[in-house]
Amino acid sequence: MGSDGLYWFHHSLAYAMLEGAATVLEVPRQDLNVTVRAATGAGHEIVLYDAVPGGAGLVARLQEPDIFREVLSVAHGRVDQCRGCEPDASCYGCLRHYGNQFAHPRLQRGPVAAFLSEALAAW
Ligand SMILES: [Zn+2]
Repeated sequence: MGSDGLYWFHHSLAYAMLEGAATVLEVPRQDLNVTVRAATGAGHEIVLYDAVPGGAGLVARLQEPDIFREVLSVAHGRVDQCRGCEPDASCYGCLRHYGNQFAHPRLQRGPVAAFLSEALAAW
């Protein structure tokens, strides 16, 4: 995977985490936001944050290991079992939403499913 591929992989992973977090925290996805930014050495880091003023505290709950693992698990289920698209693509059932249209053609659920599967197995 080249650096460009890695860049979009991290976006795909970020959106899977966003959906997982919204489900686990029981809030609309719009209440959360995610961004992918350059990090020293490792390539990129995924930053999840509250989108609503005064919504502080939502994302802080993800620091609890049990909750974070549940987020990974829900995110995995979403990308692993999507019936709306092929593993090398994405759809509104897994990674796509209105706010990430710029990335739609580049989002792939398969590599994210594989990554999350390994992360959960190694937990
Ligand atoms: Zn899909």
